[in-house]
Amino acid sequence: SEKDAALAAAAAPPPADSPTIFDKIINKEIPAKVVYEDDKVLAFRDIAPQAPTHIVLIPKIKDGLTGLSQAEERHCEILGQLLYAAKLVAKQEGLEDGFRVVINDGPDGCQSVYHLHLHLLGGRQMNWPPG
Ligand code: 5GP
Repeated sequence: SEKDAALAAAAAPPPADSPTIFDKIINKEIPAKVVYEDDKVLAFRDIAPQAPTHIVLIPKIKDGLTGLSQAEERHCEILGQLLYAAKLVAKQEGLEDGFRVVINDGPDGCQSVYHLHLHLLGGRQMNWPPG
């Protein structure tokens, strides 16, 4: 039906070069609570935290990485840097008892922003399986 087509279109990832809200955060057009920054990675508190600590880590340069499913071999370095930055931020946030790192990909993964990002969650007991 027409409604089903509209829903499918709404859930479909946008083109790789479409700007997202994260570009505005990188460009400081909208404020964010930045907790970590280096030459390649920016980390800031999630606006809708799902745990006492909930931080989003993103590459400062998107380079076609709308999500993990779009990764190419050239992205291996930034992927590693994001994971390592997550470890540094977890330590900085005092998450000594553990934490969780999540990447949502595509409609089934419940991805809402199409600029690759890691979620760092901690400060409470996580559950498994996730929802
Ligand atoms: P996704 O659902 O794509 O895995 O994660 C996107 C995350 O970005 C969500 O957890 C959402 O709360 C967060 N987010 C969306 N817009 C903003 C914003 O403008 N500022 C901040 N700090 N987080 C945002």
